[in-house]
Amino acid sequence: MEKIPFADINIRHLGIALEVKERINQIIHSSSYILGEEIDKFEEEFARYCGVKYCVGLDNGTSALELGMRALNIGKGDEVITPVNSFIASTSSISMVGAIPVWVDCDAKTYNIDPTKIENKITKKTKAIMPVHLYGQPAEMTTILEIAKKHKLHVIEDACQAHGAEYDGLRVGSFGVFAAFSFYPGKNLGAFGDAGALVTNDKQIYETVKKMRNYGQSAKYHHDFIAWNRRLDTLQAAILRVKLKYLDRWNKQRVKNAHIYNKLLKDANIIIPYHDPITIHVYHLYVIQIDGRDRLLKYLEEKGIAVGIHYPIPIHLQKAYRFVGKREGRFPISEKYAHKILSLPMYPHLSEEKIYYITEVIKAYKQKQDANNGN
Ligand SMILES: *Cc1c(COP(=O)(O)O)cnc(C)c1O
Repeated sequence: MEKIPFADINIRHLGIALEVKERINQIIHSSSYILGEEIDKFEEEFARYCGVKYCVGLDNGTSALELGMRALNIGKGDEVITPVNSFIASTSSISMVGAIPVWVDCDAKTYNIDPTKIENKITKKTKAIMPVHLYGQPAEMTTILEIAKKHKLHVIEDACQAHGAEYDGLRVGSFGVFAAFSFYPGKNLGAFGDAGALVTNDKQIYETVKKMRNYGQSAKYHHDFIAWNRRLDTLQAAILRVKLKYLDRWNKQRVKNAHIYNKLLKDANIIIPYHDPITIHVYHLYVIQIDGRDRLLKYLEEKGIAVGIHYPIPIHLQKAYRFVGKREGRFPISEKYAHKILSLPMYPHLSEEKIYYITEVIKAYKQKQDANNGN
């Protein structure tokens, strides 16, 4: 068996090489490299895709979280509630605006923020709840929105792993006061470089973030406030416009692949992903849990199968957050599963044959392990 990559994001494999190259050529010949029509069109198309009014193209997903919070005037002295098991950017964006991230452990089945643990973290300083739609499955939005309404808090969606996912029939990005998307190459909708976007139904957030990304400019050389350069690159927008047309098809292929994995791993005594039936899970990652994870990881890599861990260290145990104090034992579910999770290869064009091979290797390993344990 040839080597199996973790994700396959090359245009050749996505079948879009010609279309993308043509678009890139057009942009190069147009000499319009910054903002312009290509950005406007992508923003229109992506807002429509998410079922919201506005989209602002940005340089990455972290900027979308950060600038969105700045537009809401979240800053020093404020608190934002967010899951402790996510990519660092969910939490670090809160720190970057000067606010305090208040962590919540995850639900043991979905890996998403445990909504039953949110309310007792709310204080007078709390301004927002930021759920993360982790691995491509929307967080439990009904409960989260209820809590937010009751306590008059904003809901900010970190949708960086869940392009096109749905909760109760609506696309993610349409639930919060704003949502952040990343188009990092490996995401379900990925650019060929860094890129991101903020989506919202709030006109004021939209207009503020549009200025924030462009030196605080309201008109050329008229700067309303001190700001950044955080623009989405025009070439990337052109590429994203091509890829957006295929996103639903690719997401469906991911779901199909997840179902094949589920079926093949069903009786292997391995914890497979839980799918909350109210959601459309878009399987950015296919994450299993298994004892002896580190040895299995090595074994799979020896067999030419690339795997990942998302994430090996919960955020409160990262060096960057050492200053917070109180460490091990604070978030037992996230801490425990960080030692057991393993992300298997997942991408739209992963073949059934490869999935079969991967699961056979895992099952063979598991049998050997169980035999050694005397089971
Ligand atoms: C990828 C990701 C981000 C950050 O996006 P960038 O584009 O890399 O800045 C934020 N949150 C989550 C959950 C992510 O997966």
